[in-house]
Amino acid sequence: MRKKIIAANWKMYKNPRESLSFLDTFLPLVAGHERDEILIFPTATSLSTVIDRVEGTNVHAGAQTMHWLNEGPFTGQTSPTMLTSIGTTHVLLGHSERRLYANESYEHVNLKLKAAIAHDLIPILCLGEMLADRQTGYTKDTLLAQMGAALANLPTEKAQTLVIAYEPVWAIGTGSTATPDVADQAHAIIRGDLKNRFGPVVADAARILYGGSVKPDNVSALLAMPNIDGALIGGASLDPHSLALMVQYA
Ligand code: PEP
Repeated sequence: MRKKIIAANWKMYKNPRESLSFLDTFLPLVAGHERDEILIFPTATSLSTVIDRVEGTNVHAGAQTMHWLNEGPFTGQTSPTMLTSIGTTHVLLGHSERRLYANESYEHVNLKLKAAIAHDLIPILCLGEMLADRQTGYTKDTLLAQMGAALANLPTEKAQTLVIAYEPVWAIGTGSTATPDVADQAHAIIRGDLKNRFGPVVADAARILYGGSVKPDNVSALLAMPNIDGALIGGASLDPHSLALMVQYA
């Protein structure tokens, strides 16, 4: 039985004060909830504040991206060791907004993924097709190409903690959620590819989250599907009552 993950991607919202105010409301609402893992991905300047505030609770915090090297002349970047030095446990990699606005390729994601694992950070690898891929029948090819590039040369023993987020780009921030069947079919493709690459043990253990306009009124139906092991939630995670409802409905 895979433990489900409810993950909040706060994108470029919430400064440290707003993050603390969110947590003051949210933490009591989910206190003692151990059935699922609860993760929050704040913006970089709020990360250490959130990590300190959730210490000792059932909530963990992660970064929205990172560089693959430990240091260097890379203005604006944050390294894996910088993240672990403040107690970060998870990192989102390859989010479509990073691919779109920061020119991040899956070759970069591959380097980041290997660096995250080497530093005991749990990577959440984001992937998903564009609307044009889906409309032209290329969803499967796109997902397999993204998996191939992101997971290239990753040894099986390093793939044990993999978490993948299937986030169809046409569903992110648009209000158009994939139906549970459409999402589950994509998750089955991803799980099948994990099996081909790393064998059945890794494929059965990997958590595959769905992301794309998840809200309190659609989370239960999505998470009831056999291949959907949680949700990565953007817009609807910014309100503490809405996120707590989704934890409760998961
Ligand atoms: C996301 O940014 O990962 C996301 C899924 O956003 P939203 O829930 O707003 O579609």
